[in-house]
Amino acid sequence: MTEKLFDEAKLIFLENFKRINNLFCEAVLKSGRKVLDVTLMAATKTVSAEMIDFACENGISAFGENRVQEFLSKLPVLKTTVPRHFIGTLQTNKVKNLVGKVDMIQSVDSLRLAKFISERSLLLGIKTDVLVEINIGNEETKSGISHDHALEFVYEAAMLDGIHIRGLMCIPPFDIKLTEKIKNFEKMQKLFVDIRGKNVDNVNMDFLSMGMSDDFETAILCGANIVRIGTALFGKRSFPSQ
Ligand SMILES: *Cc1c(COP(=O)(O)O)cnc(C)c1O
Repeated sequence: MTEKLFDEAKLIFLENFKRINNLFCEAVLKSGRKVLDVTLMAATKTVSAEMIDFACENGISAFGENRVQEFLSKLPVLKTTVPRHFIGTLQTNKVKNLVGKVDMIQSVDSLRLAKFISERSLLLGIKTDVLVEINIGNEETKSGISHDHALEFVYEAAMLDGIHIRGLMCIPPFDIKLTEKIKNFEKMQKLFVDIRGKNVDNVNMDFLSMGMSDDFETAILCGANIVRIGTALFGKRSFPSQ
């Protein structure tokens, strides 16, 4: 990207952030919480390391990456120290390259993946924070644990010493009516509270990650405390990425 285009992208980000952050703060306050209790996470797939740094110098306090290779290529350039999460579909053969380099993996969608992350973490002498991804719309095309198996999954994954389950994440179906979306988010919130109530060893239900550019305010009103926003901050991506 040329210098001029990069300056333009920065200005666009600043404008977008101001608007989105206002909506974010309003929604958080309306939900009866404090602004600092909820994280506006930037979803940074296809966004350059320089731009991520700029965003983090200007209000963004955490970012999420989708692809291991892309993330690793940005790592040597990145200066920001804000929490970095992995939010994309994770193949087990990529786990060894990722563990130890992110603060949280939000997209644990199978026991097999959980075991891989745990084993790699133990090898490094660390424990990796993870969220369990729930396929809340029961979509065949989407990964994630089904709502009905979530508790059973948590009990099993909680036995793995190399991971620490910190909450739930979801990507609801895209093309559904607002009322349906709300139903999905409320179902997530209820599941989150239910699992928290079980007080499972090695599990802390701290984070409910849901809501993206089109629906983050709704998600916040339904109890989300991490929203993952890409397009509304950085503009439309030039190519789809997961
Ligand atoms: C891209 C992405 C987002 C952000 O989506 P936008 O609609 O661009 O805000 C959030 N979560 C995940 C897992 C993503 O891949």
